[in-house]
Amino acid sequence: MSRVFNFSAGPSMLPEEVLKKAAIEMLDYEGSGQSVMEMSHRSKVYKPIIEKAESLVRELMNVPDNYIVLFLQGGASTQFAMIPMNLKKNGRAAYVNTGVWSKKAIAEAKKYLDVDVIASSEDKGFSYIPQVPSVSGDYDYVHITLNNTIMGTHWEYIPDTGDIPLVADISSCILSEPLDVSKFGLLYAGAQKNLAPAGVTLVIIREDLIPENPIPGTPTMLNYRIHAENGSMYNTPPCYTIYIMKLVLEWIKSKGGAPGMEKLNREKAALLYDYLDKSDYYHATAEPGSRSLMNIPFLTKERDPEKADAINKKFVQEAASAGLVNLAGHRLVGGMRASIYNAMPIEGVKALIAFMEKFAEENNK
Ligand SMILES: *Cc1c(COP(=O)(O)O)cnc(C)c1O
Repeated sequence: MSRVFNFSAGPSMLPEEVLKKAAIEMLDYEGSGQSVMEMSHRSKVYKPIIEKAESLVRELMNVPDNYIVLFLQGGASTQFAMIPMNLKKNGRAAYVNTGVWSKKAIAEAKKYLDVDVIASSEDKGFSYIPQVPSVSGDYDYVHITLNNTIMGTHWEYIPDTGDIPLVADISSCILSEPLDVSKFGLLYAGAQKNLAPAGVTLVIIREDLIPENPIPGTPTMLNYRIHAENGSMYNTPPCYTIYIMKLVLEWIKSKGGAPGMEKLNREKAALLYDYLDKSDYYHATAEPGSRSLMNIPFLTKERDPEKADAINKKFVQEAASAGLVNLAGHRLVGGMRASIYNAMPIEGVKALIAFMEKFAEENNK
């Protein structure tokens, strides 16, 4: 069996060491005679798994003591509703629109409160991160998408929101580099990009932001307080996914934690961006100064839409034959996209560049 380099935007590659460890522990987890998939979430053998996952999140992200860590379900998309339902006070929130996921968050929030879009990069196809002046007003919170998975952009600075809680979707960049949690009121991430298989959403919320009561009619399952008071065990949590997250967090720790990940990720991204910037055949779509370390969309120089479509298809197909899979771009950006999350080894990026060179030689006419 040979494994491919998987450039999928999510679900995405997991570290091979993690998969091997999970395989070894599959039938008999630590002498329990059971798989983690089969055990009660309230059992003596399972409890240390979720506790270790939480303590590793706290350690690796340097989470201050006045923040609660929650393991929830419903993906990052459920947070788009849960945030306004729980944080609404005055009834108005500020959002920055940096692409598809921001737009979805905005559309959902509008069902529950008034939204001011205080900055946007839509004027240039979301190819950059806008400058946000210091925010003031009676906003209940300010929302940003820290890494834009589809557009391939990333905030290089944290906007100053004063006393207004800053909320960030960090689904596609969590633990890819150090992040100062204390600058945020709430952070959330669907796990399937950088942390685990799909099925768990990590929420890190400052304790004082959890309201006594969310807006009337809020389902029990969408109430942060319920989950906080029950240690993410109000109902059955996604036990196995949390176990894999624990293994991934242990792997991240063994590689030097968030600083170790950043070093590796900067090295990988620099290789690819340098190649793209020098190439006379390909170019990156995100502007320098706003570029993601995780998701790198790129186009060929083919301008004619039909021809571009054909060449993109050819690229994706031939790359797949060479063991480099899931490189098709998002339909909104076109071209190709290489997602190079924490688990993508540098060899994968080198193999991609070697393939791109060969493909350019054969097709750059
Ligand atoms: C993938 C993604 C989402 C959606 O996550 P789900 O867990 O599928 O709901 C939201 N925001 C960002 C930035 C993403 O990358």
